[in-house]
Amino acid sequence: MAAGSAGEPGEAPSGSGARAPLIGVLALQGGFEAHGRVLRRLGARVREVRVPGELSGLSGLVLPGGESTTMMLGVQREGLAEPLRELVRGGLPVLGSCAGLIMLDSKHLGLMDIRARRNAFGGQIRSFEADLEIGELTGGPLRGVFIRAPWIDEHGPDVEVLAEIEDHPVAARQGRMLAVAFHSELAGDDRVHLMFLQWARAFAAGAPSPGMI
Ligand code: GLN
Repeated sequence: MAAGSAGEPGEAPSGSGARAPLIGVLALQGGFEAHGRVLRRLGARVREVRVPGELSGLSGLVLPGGESTTMMLGVQREGLAEPLRELVRGGLPVLGSCAGLIMLDSKHLGLMDIRARRNAFGGQIRSFEADLEIGELTGGPLRGVFIRAPWIDEHGPDVEVLAEIEDHPVAARQGRMLAVAFHSELAGDDRVHLMFLQWARAFAAGAPSPGMI
């Protein structure tokens, strides 16, 4: 496929808000396809992002799970880090899931004021499911699928913790940046993606971001 901003047929040139929001999913490595499926099911247009030109015109960006080291190397190799930072700092909503949470932290892309601990649940319980009470979601607990998941060790005052497991933050937001330690795309519960799509629509419509740094 040609690199650049050509994208999929039927894409609007910009996230005008009049059409379904165009969401980019970083597709260098990891579980990007499952995010694409959920987002399409919810009515979004989806573009896999592998090169900087594919960042243009997005209303939101998903950083999927996978291996944060590999993904970070890919981001640097493709020259994606700086344009991606610029867009998110400008208010583009971003959802980081599992390795995506790690990518958002202060040691990686440096976008959220959080410090992630990789493979934090280590030992015997590397992978598990848990019901989470998420601050901003109505409709009861959300089933989270944790696969060699991180948690958030430290966070700054602009970060709102949305869910914890045994006092360890596993979901947090800062402005329109949303980080979840679990795989929100695998449990068949779309509420995290729905919340993110609301932010994407607000961004496309030009609404100011709440509490942006
Ligand atoms: N353990 C992985 C990492 O450190 C994250 C795992 C995942 O995304 N499921 O990058």
